Amino acid sequence: MTQINAERLLADMRALARFGACGTGVDRVSYSEADQASRRWLRDRMTEAGLTARIDRVGNVAGISARADRAVVIGSHTDSVPRGGWLDGAMGVIYGLEITRSRIEQGLDRTLGVDVVSFQDEEGTYLSCLGSRAFCSDLSDADMARASGPGGETLNAAITRANYGGSVWVRDPQRHKAYLEAHIEQGPRLEAAGLRLGVVTGIVGIRRFRITCGGQADHAGTTPIALRRDAARPLIHLAHWVHTEVATLGGADTVWNVGMMMVRPGAANVVPSESEMVVEFRDTSLEILDRIEQGLLAQVHAMDGRAGVTVKAQSIASSLPTLMDARLVTLGDEVACALGEPSMRMVSGAGHDAMIVGRVLPSVMLFVPSIGGRSHDIVENTTDTDIVLGCQALAALVTRIEGLDL
Ligand SMILES: [Zn+2]
Repeated sequence: MTQINAERLLADMRALARFGACGTGVDRVSYSEADQASRRWLRDRMTEAGLTARIDRVGNVAGISARADRAVVIGSHTDSVPRGGWLDGAMGVIYGLEITRSRIEQGLDRTLGVDVVSFQDEEGTYLSCLGSRAFCSDLSDADMARASGPGGETLNAAITRANYGGSVWVRDPQRHKAYLEAHIEQGPRLEAAGLRLGVVTGIVGIRRFRITCGGQADHAGTTPIALRRDAARPLIHLAHWVHTEVATLGGADTVWNVGMMMVRPGAANVVPSESEMVVEFRDTSLEILDRIEQGLLAQVHAMDGRAGVTVKAQSIASSLPTLMDARLVTLGDEVACALGEPSMRMVSGAGHDAMIVGRVLPSVMLFVPSIGGRSHDIVENTTDTDIVLGCQALAALVTRIEGLDL
């Protein structure tokens, strides 16, 4: 059983938070000066811990536990959103560092290594989950060439500017047994339930559509209602449909959002000639996502052309759900229980590197509570005792994986 050093864990997390410090949070978007400096610091901490560490071509910081042929990968990301929190991503990376360092000190690294990684640009300043996609060889030159970030700088220009060199660190099927990612919950559910550990069963897939309607502008006082080609009416009907019917088509974890609505020209005395909205829904079940999509498109089709108004739907984003490995989810529950903390099984409504890596390696995520459910803001925080508990749970999970034939 790996004994982690809680004080060292918290000290390293606070040291990392000094890079790009911004009030109580961090501003450490990928390829910024603060991000680059933090990666060099992390590489040096990995080397000190006894890992073979390097920063790869895209900026992933990888530390290899050299004495074992097989290893689990523990990691997350250390880039942040602008004015982000100090724990989002960073906690999962420092957990990996502390666990592998403790295992080396206790001579446990000969049986199963722990390779540690901070993936580049999970937050998508240039290209969402860039580092984990590169690790999984799930990135084409064309994907790279299309991506750009702050000030219009292309991703390739940012990589050249950072000048990390070398090759990309990629998954080794002979070596890598599983991927473990701990993260703050970034929502209120654990706190509301009075629980301290969440075990993620899956990361949602997303379907996003732009709906556009075309009618005719007329005087809103003189044109009889029956003769209007009002572009707002079908849109309002569809928004109502989303908020009343998606719940019946979906499951307990389905979420949906009408995040943008617009009517043009946008005057009280003009019948709208055009309207537009963006709607998305998320779930971990492909079947549910398909069912909602079919329902939405059937509504759009039925309304198209009615009362002289065209209604069109265009898919603007679609991502697949990723299920976590069922055996690792069970082990997650077991280690939580052994620590005297009943766990909550939950889906992740936010994207994570595990969404990418989980498609090619057995993976699981552990969540610890976010105070007030707050995240992606400098107020983001978690109690020290919960931070330490999460690391102990993850260390115990590694021990259990030693005996598992994955
Ligand atoms: Zn994150």
